Amino acid sequence: MTKRTIITLPDPVLRQVCAPVTAVGDDIRQLADDMLDTMYEAPGIGLAASQIGVLQRIFVLDVAKEDQPKAPMVFINPEIVWSSPELSVYQEGCLSIPEYYDDVERPASVRVTFQNREGAQQELLADGLLATCIQHELDHLNGKLFIDYLSKLKRDRVVKKFQKQARTTGKS
Ligand SMILES: [Zn+2]
Repeated sequence: MTKRTIITLPDPVLRQVCAPVTAVGDDIRQLADDMLDTMYEAPGIGLAASQIGVLQRIFVLDVAKEDQPKAPMVFINPEIVWSSPELSVYQEGCLSIPEYYDDVERPASVRVTFQNREGAQQELLADGLLATCIQHELDHLNGKLFIDYLSKLKRDRVVKKFQKQARTTGKS
């Protein structure tokens, strides 16, 4: 497995919409393994392909608690087919927006269809942190970030901070 570089705000790649994965082969499995490696190393609990500059519809996550064994999950071509009317609030963060956290309200549970690492079609009813994480990562595949749910004032402040950082470090 290879650790990849995580792209951060304000890189425009994060705003791109990812294309469906046409076939789940060894290249996609390699990508998924690299993504998990990169996520664990960061460390984080979720990572979407666009965050490492690959514009394909795939994300990985692991919401196991620290004292529990690793539980890596791979979602290829994920689609939310049902969202609960009940909402829940979690404090979210993002590996592409380091050291910034804020509360986001989302549906408390979702039903998601996807292909797993072997390419098999799966369906999962998720709630709690897993449901929030799935929605956060799926947003990435559509070029959407969790700061988009905040007030314009807050969002502008975050974006400006990262634009300023990028200028001082010489990165785009
Ligand atoms: Zn994120």
